[in-house]
Amino acid sequence: MDENKEKKNQPAGNPLLFPILLLFAIYVAVGYVMHTEAVPGTETPPPQPPQTEQPVQTAAPVKRSTNGTRSIYLTFDDGPCENTPRVLDTLDRYGAKATFFTVGMYVDRYPETTKEIVRRGNLIACHTYTHDYEKCYASADAFIAETEKWKRSVQKTCGGVPPRLCVRFPGGSTTKYAADVRDDIIAQLNASGYRWFDWNAGDNDKWPKGNTKGLSDTEYFMQSYKECMGWFEDTPDVPVVFLFHDTEEGSVDILPDVLQDLINRGYNFRLLDEHPDWG
Ligand SMILES: [Zn+2]
Repeated sequence: MDENKEKKNQPAGNPLLFPILLLFAIYVAVGYVMHTEAVPGTETPPPQPPQTEQPVQTAAPVKRSTNGTRSIYLTFDDGPCENTPRVLDTLDRYGAKATFFTVGMYVDRYPETTKEIVRRGNLIACHTYTHDYEKCYASADAFIAETEKWKRSVQKTCGGVPPRLCVRFPGGSTTKYAADVRDDIIAQLNASGYRWFDWNAGDNDKWPKGNTKGLSDTEYFMQSYKECMGWFEDTPDVPVVFLFHDTEEGSVDILPDVLQDLINRGYNFRLLDEHPDWG
C-alpha cells in the first residue's frame, strides 16, 4: 500500500514529454516517406523485372489517362544470325523499327547483315563481344573491354557506332553470373556515357520451362506475348521494352502477327536511343 501511495505521489513526468515524442514520431515518419519517395533517381534505369530463368513480370499497373502515344521498343538479342534478314523484312513490311543487341563476334561473322540492320534505319546496340558469361563477368574491366571490342567490330563493319550507345547485359543485369560485378559495370557504363537496358516484356523464347501445356513454340511465344501486352493495357504511358531473340526461329515466325497486333493496339515503334532513360 505504501508502495502504491508512493507511486501516486510521484510527479507524473514532464507534461511536455508526450507532445515532444509525438512530434518526433511524426517527423521521423514524414522523413521516412519523403526519403523513400525520393529514392527512384533520375540517373538510374527504370525498374526492371526478373530475367534469367524466370518468366517476364512487371510491377502492378498504375492507371493513367490514355494520350494516344503508346510506345514500344522492340529488341532482338544475340544476333545477327541467319534469321536476321527475315526479321528485317518483316519489320519493313509493317513499318516497324527495332533495336538489335548484337554480339560482336557475330557482327564479324555476318557483316552484310549487320550493315543491313543499320541501313534500314534500325538501331544497333551492344550485347558484348562474346556473350560468354565467364569472360563478360570476370570483372567490370573485362565487361568494358568486351564493350570496346564490340565497338571496334561495329566501327569496322558499319563505319561508325551510334552516338547513343545502348548496352544489354548477357542474361540481363540481374543474372546471378553478374552479381559480383554488376554495380561496378554500371558505374563504368554510366561514366562512359552509355545506357544499359533490360526489358519489361518478352515472349519467353528463352524460357521453355514456362510451356507447361505442351504448346508448340509459336503458340507458346504468342500466348506469352499476349499475356505481357495485357499487363500494359491500363498503363499507356509506360514504355514497353520487349525482348525477342532473332536466334529463336519461333519468334521470327510470330513476328508478323505480333506487329499487326501492336498496330491494332495503337503502339508506336521506337528505338532505344529515344527512350526516356536518356533524359
Ligand atoms: Zn543474350
